Amino acid sequence: MPAKRRELALKTTEPFRTRPLGHYIAGAAVSGDGEAFPIYDPSTGEELGQAKDATPAELDSAVDAAVGAFHGWATTPGEKRKEILHRIADGIEARADEIASIECLDAGQTWRFMSKAALRGAENFRFFADRAPGAADGQALPSPGHLNVTTRYPIGPVAVITPWNTPFMLSTWKIAPALAAGCTVVHKPAEWSPYSARLLVEIAHDAGLPAGVFNSVNGLGESTGRRLTEHPGIKAIAFVGESKTGSAIMKQGADTLKRVHFELGGKNPVIVFDDADLERALDAVVFMIYSLNGQRCTSSSRVLVQRSIYDGFVARIAERAAALKVGDPFDPATEVGPLIHERHLGKVCSYAEIAQGDGATIAAGGKRIDRPGYFYSPTLYTAAEQTMRIAREEIFGPVLTAIPFDDEADAIAKANDVDYGLAGYVWTRDIGRALRVSNALEAGMVWVNSENVRHLPTPFGGVKASGIGRDGGDWSFDFYMETKNLAFATGEHKIMKLGAGN
Ligand code: NAD
Repeated sequence: MPAKRRELALKTTEPFRTRPLGHYIAGAAVSGDGEAFPIYDPSTGEELGQAKDATPAELDSAVDAAVGAFHGWATTPGEKRKEILHRIADGIEARADEIASIECLDAGQTWRFMSKAALRGAENFRFFADRAPGAADGQALPSPGHLNVTTRYPIGPVAVITPWNTPFMLSTWKIAPALAAGCTVVHKPAEWSPYSARLLVEIAHDAGLPAGVFNSVNGLGESTGRRLTEHPGIKAIAFVGESKTGSAIMKQGADTLKRVHFELGGKNPVIVFDDADLERALDAVVFMIYSLNGQRCTSSSRVLVQRSIYDGFVARIAERAAALKVGDPFDPATEVGPLIHERHLGKVCSYAEIAQGDGATIAAGGKRIDRPGYFYSPTLYTAAEQTMRIAREEIFGPVLTAIPFDDEADAIAKANDVDYGLAGYVWTRDIGRALRVSNALEAGMVWVNSENVRHLPTPFGGVKASGIGRDGGDWSFDFYMETKNLAFATGEHKIMKLGAGN
């Protein structure tokens, strides 16, 4: 079965691997004249193929296509947009196995989790498809003498820039609401895992999306990404990636006053109090750091454990970490696959030395696995303090840092003592404490007695260095649309007469 899935991924991507993957602009594939860069198979380290960095002229033509298609798409009735978006979801569902296997191939994500990721992508399209007809709806705000009515209209062509960790799902999360709102899109997927993005744009066109509404350009962040964010034709940037890239993009977009939506890094705490259901807490802690190869923005990469239960609880995490099945991402039994890239593996590896230098203990893993590809052993650092780099920096791998705390105040202080603020997790049976702690956490999202369970109408996003803005429900439309107030006089209120000689 794993071999069959790999074969499916190789076959589906064959047209983009036998010659360098280009772009998809104005409804057509463009081979691209830019420099080619390699794409690797993280589970073997071998080159899968190459993709082209868009030239400035190609990037301009993608933005021109989005600008040219904007009026037509923005004025397409919401019901029609809904219909097309549902057809895109149908197309995703029909090709779910191909999409999932591609995520295993170039992103190294495991089948165990990816088999659902394509369907999640389809759900994102359906959710926003159903909201497309009402996207422009506003409020009626009567005042004495006037009726104020708000309405919304799409902001214009938008750039969507996505990372490599769960490429397909994250792309749909941004592109579906943008299209539902009536925006046109230029998408730049991450250079290390670009294949599923190509499938998405093709599926969208097969579903009847008009040419130019959704364009996809490949390329490096520093060249194509930068030019896209600086382009005057682009009105807003939806970006998912590292915090330092977010800050670069904010500068790049400043001259053209772009609206930005950032979903950035995290160093999310999971706080385990001694009164918690420790069995469930253990399952959630292990799941939230070692699933998706630890390359997950909402991963709980710091476990703060009450001192009275610290030794026993972390010993059980260490046991689980050591027992995780690491291996071929296509094998449904695999729990942890490879890291995305040699360079990223190097970064994750470097923390073992940093951890030991700072006085922490390696209770599990802590090294590269001796086999081809970019495999890293699921790792647990114990005897850690909040002051250490392993407790403060985003490592973005299957690496957990365990820190003891004394009481509620200590837990909150340690949880908040990082630059990031994406998610937080709290485990306790004391409802008052759950409320106090979740209120005090500096995070955009807090789950109590739960792991990251996403509900699409709820807001998703971070505070501090973890992001700006929210996705989900109507929050997505707030970003992709402008709100306009229309004030109608209901009678003949007094208008001041100037220059009328009195
Ligand atoms: P990255 O910031 O290196 O790259 C993300 C994207 O930005 C890529 O497409 C890249 O080509 C592009 N890019 C890089 N430099 C650019 C520039 N100067 N201008 C324009 N575009 C540029 O991030 P990554 O390493 O691909 O992804 C991992 C990061 O993503 C982690 O920090 C992770 O936490 C974060 N992430 C956050 C969320 C969230 O929802 N908060 C979700 C997933 C991933």
